[in-house]
Amino acid sequence: MMLGRLNSWLRGPGSCLPRLLLLLALLTMCGSLTYQAVEFANDWRDPRSRGFLEWFRGDEGSRDALTTTQRDTCPGAPFVLPTDGYIGLLWGDPRGPYSQERPHQGIDIFSAAEPGLTPVFAAYDGYVSREEEWRSTIIQRVPEDPLEPSRQIWLYYTHMADRDGDDFIEEAFAPGGGERFVEQGTLLGYTGDYNGNSVRSIGVHLHFSIVRDDGYGRYTNELDIENTLDPSPYLGLNVNYTCPGENSGCSAAAGC
Ligand SMILES: [Zn+2]
Repeated sequence: MMLGRLNSWLRGPGSCLPRLLLLLALLTMCGSLTYQAVEFANDWRDPRSRGFLEWFRGDEGSRDALTTTQRDTCPGAPFVLPTDGYIGLLWGDPRGPYSQERPHQGIDIFSAAEPGLTPVFAAYDGYVSREEEWRSTIIQRVPEDPLEPSRQIWLYYTHMADRDGDDFIEEAFAPGGGERFVEQGTLLGYTGDYNGNSVRSIGVHLHFSIVRDDGYGRYTNELDIENTLDPSPYLGLNVNYTCPGENSGCSAAAGC
């Protein structure tokens, strides 16, 4: 019945090409929606996603239980956690907008507060720079990786602006500014929810990643996980998605 109607619609007066194209577009849209629904269902089947559900449901008690605050370094680890909150997306995480093929390259620390209120601190000593076009981002050069002193690494902090791109970064780190030395714990700015031109809401969070140097004194492309390092041993916290177990509190053998 359905197919018969479709057939007579396609064979209707005039060229059938526009109708065929419309049909193809509709089928593609359905396919993509189904794919997204399957991805979404897979995400929520992951036991670690229960925390997400609780966090976004938003009651104060469960948010408190999910919040990690690590203003001091964990024993044996060199970095402090740059902001307080729920570490919702981990390093190597395939959930959310990420996938097994293109996993998350850093950690996302979600804030329960409005944009612009939760402070972000330097995770370690180093030289802060900000490219001219960076609305919500700064990068910090650490000349000696504390865990592998023969190499230089970079610490990348982003989403420190509101939806319109008005930033919450401290004035000392203006766009185009470079190489300002700060000590661990220095205030850099506040968390926001800036996501470029995308209409997708990302929640108020800081994305933090450790980026490899290219060997010539420049940072590599932080979007590729191969160019980043597992932050777990630097923070003393289990923030590697591929490691089993929970990521609550300091761990003597963080990472896997
Ligand atoms: Zn992120």
